[in-house]
Amino acid sequence: MGSRNHEVVPTPLISQIASLRAGGVPKCISNLAKIGLIAKVKNAKYDGYRLTYGGLDYLSLHTHTKAGTVYSVGNQIGVGKESDIFVCASEQGRQLVLKIHRLGRISFRTVKANRDYLRNRSSGSWMYMSRLAALKEFEFMKALRREGFPVPEPVGQNRHTVVMSLVDAFPMRQISAVGDAASTLYAELLSLIVRLAQHGLIHGDFNEFNILIEEKTSTDGSDVTLIPTLIDFPQMVSIDHSNAEYYFDRDVACIKRFFSRRFGFTSDEPGPFFKDSIRTVTKRLDVEVEASGFSRKMAKELAAYMKEHGVDGDAGEVERDGDEDSDGRSDVDEANPEEVEDDGGNSLDPQEPSSVSDPDSKAEKPSLLAAQMTILDIRDNDPLPSLADIKPPPQPAMSTKAAKAKAGWAI
Ligand code: ADP
Ligand code: MG
Repeated sequence: MGSRNHEVVPTPLISQIASLRAGGVPKCISNLAKIGLIAKVKNAKYDGYRLTYGGLDYLSLHTHTKAGTVYSVGNQIGVGKESDIFVCASEQGRQLVLKIHRLGRISFRTVKANRDYLRNRSSGSWMYMSRLAALKEFEFMKALRREGFPVPEPVGQNRHTVVMSLVDAFPMRQISAVGDAASTLYAELLSLIVRLAQHGLIHGDFNEFNILIEEKTSTDGSDVTLIPTLIDFPQMVSIDHSNAEYYFDRDVACIKRFFSRRFGFTSDEPGPFFKDSIRTVTKRLDVEVEASGFSRKMAKELAAYMKEHGVDGDAGEVERDGDEDSDGRSDVDEANPEEVEDDGGNSLDPQEPSSVSDPDSKAEKPSLLAAQMTILDIRDNDPLPSLADIKPPPQPAMSTKAAKAKAGWAI
C-alpha cells in the first residue's frame, strides 16, 4: 500500500499501515528483507524500504492465484530487455504465458538525461512504469483480439504482469526457410500492418521477434500454411502520433529487410504507404483503448519514460546494428545460436518446401517446456515460507551508492 505513493516507503508509515502490535513490524520487515522481497534504502530525507522486483512479482502472482488465473509456473521461455516470459498454467491445466514487465532493469543509455528526468518526475519509477506497460499491453491485446486480429488471448493483468494464451510457435526470427510460403506470408504481414492502421494503430515494433509463426501441415502432408501471431504491444502508437508515418514505414521496412536477408525474397511492389492506409479507417481502436482504462495521460507518461530510457523495442536494436543476426538479444533462440546464425539469405532449400525450426534442435516448443510446472503455493493468509528453508540472497559487499548505480535507478 505504501508503495502506491512512495518508491521508498518510510518505516513509520509501514508501521502505521500494518497496524500490528508494537514490536511486530520490525520482525516482519526484517523477515521480508532477508528473503529479498523488500530492500532497505537510506535516503537523505528518511530511511525506508522499497519493494524489490521479487517482492512485486510475489504480490502480483498472489493476486493472479487468488483470481484463479495462474495456478502453476513453469520455465522461462523468453528474456527481453524489459521483460521476462514464463509459461504458466491455470488450475484446469490450461497452458498460458506470464509476461513480467521490467522497465528500468537495464542500465540507462543516457544516464544524465535519466537523472534529470527522475529528479523532475516523482512518478517515474520502474514499478509504476512497468505497471503502465503491462496495462497498455493488456488493453491493446483485448481490443485487437475483439477485432479479430491474430494476437494471443488476454487472460489477466495485475501490477506489472500480463497473463495471456500460449502460442505454441516460434518467433519468425528462428525460421530458416519458408519456401513457396514466403510470398504469402510476406503479403499477409504487410496487410496486417495496413489493417492495423485502418484501425487507428501502428505496432511500432513489428519485426521477426514479435511475430510468432505456427506451422500447419495439411492432413495429407503436402501443404504447409504458416500462421502468424503478433505479440508485444507496449510501444504501440496511434495514427495521430506526430511520428506515425515514421513508425509505419519502419514496421514495413523491418519486414522487407528480414524477408530479403533471410529468405532472399523481395517484392517489386512499393509500399504499402501510410497515407494510403489511413484513407479508409474503419474503427479507432486507439480511441477505444484510451477510453477503456489506459488514458492519454498514462500513454504520454509511458512514452516519455521509454524515450528517455532508450526503450525502443526490437526494431531499434535491429536498426542500430544494421545486422539482424548480431543484435545481442537474449531471446529463446540465443540458446541455440547454430539454429539462427547461418542464414545469410541463402538458406532457401528447394527440396524443402518449409521448415520451421529444425525439429532436432534443442529448442523445445513452448508447450513441451510447459509440461514441468511448479505449483504456486501462494494462498491468502498463508505465512511466508519458513526462513529456515530459505537461504538469503548473497549479499555482495557493495556500498549503497554502488548498489543503486547497479540497480539502475536513482532516488
Ligand atoms: P519483449 O517485450 O521483451 O520483447 P515479448 O512479448 O516480445 O517481450 O516476448 C518475448 C519472447 O517470449 C517472444 O519472442 C516469444 O518467443 C515469447 N513469447 C511471448 N509471448 C508469447 C506467447 N503468448 N506465446 C508464446 N511465446 C511467447
Ligand atoms: Mg518482443
